[in-house]
Amino acid sequence: MFVRPAGAHDRWQDHGLGLLRTILKSNGVETDLFSTRLLRTWDELHARVAGYDQLIMNVRSYTFPFAFQAAKIFKQVNPNGLVITGGMHATVAPDEMEAIPAFDRICQGPGENIIVDLLKDPHAFPRLVIGQGAKSMSDWQMMDRTMWPNPNLPEFPWPLEPECGWGPGPVATIITSRVCPWQCVFCNEASYIPNMGRKSVDQVIDELNFLDDKFGPIGSFVIHDSMFFQSPRWLQEWIEKYPRKAHKRWSYWAAGRSDTVRQWPDLFEALVRETNWNIISIGFESGSDRVLKILNKECTAEDNYFAIDLLNKIGDDLEARGYIPPKFWANIMLGIPGETREDAYDTIRMLKRMKRVLPSISYYAPYPGSALGYQLIAEGKSRMSKENYHRYPNDEKVKGIDYKFYNQLLKGKFERDVNAKLPQFLRDKSGVYEGALIKA
Ligand code: SF4
Repeated sequence: MFVRPAGAHDRWQDHGLGLLRTILKSNGVETDLFSTRLLRTWDELHARVAGYDQLIMNVRSYTFPFAFQAAKIFKQVNPNGLVITGGMHATVAPDEMEAIPAFDRICQGPGENIIVDLLKDPHAFPRLVIGQGAKSMSDWQMMDRTMWPNPNLPEFPWPLEPECGWGPGPVATIITSRVCPWQCVFCNEASYIPNMGRKSVDQVIDELNFLDDKFGPIGSFVIHDSMFFQSPRWLQEWIEKYPRKAHKRWSYWAAGRSDTVRQWPDLFEALVRETNWNIISIGFESGSDRVLKILNKECTAEDNYFAIDLLNKIGDDLEARGYIPPKFWANIMLGIPGETREDAYDTIRMLKRMKRVLPSISYYAPYPGSALGYQLIAEGKSRMSKENYHRYPNDEKVKGIDYKFYNQLLKGKFERDVNAKLPQFLRDKSGVYEGALIKA
């Protein structure tokens, strides 16, 4: 039930939580932080929550069952205590949240401009509270990273993050933008946060330099935006200023889309070459146009192949000149309702075309808040129940999907079918991707 030991990313700074706690601290509200991930059994929680006035929880769809249990225990131990919840699940599934009597306040949407008042005087608010966010991320104060618990592990560069295979450590995680303007039907990104301005380029560089001075030296960084490769004007300014003004041209991880890579190839290439964008996360999802349409990805297989061939070419050139070549962090989705075996083979073929790739494969999960998720839940096809939003990569999430086939596909059991439509040089490449399966 409990994740132990936590994976590398589970120990990363939580930026939403970090910002809220920073705001609370500067307004004189003291908070302690505790994660249910640190528990071995629920019994241990009784002692942890004893004596507190309020339990504040960030609830995501997959943590909903944990939040429900934690709230019940908090109320048993502190009968007069209040449980205040917020986060993605409060926004996308308020009915499920309201059905839990232990949740005293449920805050929907962003909370940075309401949290101080809500915590100081919760009784002045109705049970379902509409949050208020800042207009622009430029209005945010810099998150105090020292409020994040120190895991006190050897070689953990707290409050920075350890190296995780994307670039040298210590790693700084940052956010430059919060909103993705696309509407992929499997993603609940847009339903959560209303449109809001991006941080200025200068603010981002200043934060990196500050972290480097105070906690560094930084080895690389991760831009944790849902969509970094948007707003060409901002990106152009980044290309002009980052290499000049940052203490070092650190390599970084950030996300893009294949259709915009195809639309702005020169901008993409300049970012990779001049700003050291070394791990490019792209939601390729599928190698089949049929499936990309089901997902409303608004990218075609041709867009995907364009981005792949372009990065292969840039990588070959940089490698030949003695530099570390850039890689894809390729998000791939399988087990999508309506996907045929041939569609899935197309996806594996596409993966094989990438010369340098860290694949990140997941089985489609029908989360509430996403259009397809709502539809499958309404049709009774979701296997993700209130008690068990899924926990493991190969959990079965949708009725009628042949997970056995997909598990075997990732083990390379259908190599012959996959290779039948590939040129010889790609046939020789391993098609075993079992180890790349992650939780959606
Ligand atoms: S999947 Fe990616 S591109 Fe699509 S809406 Fe979500 S964040 Fe945006």
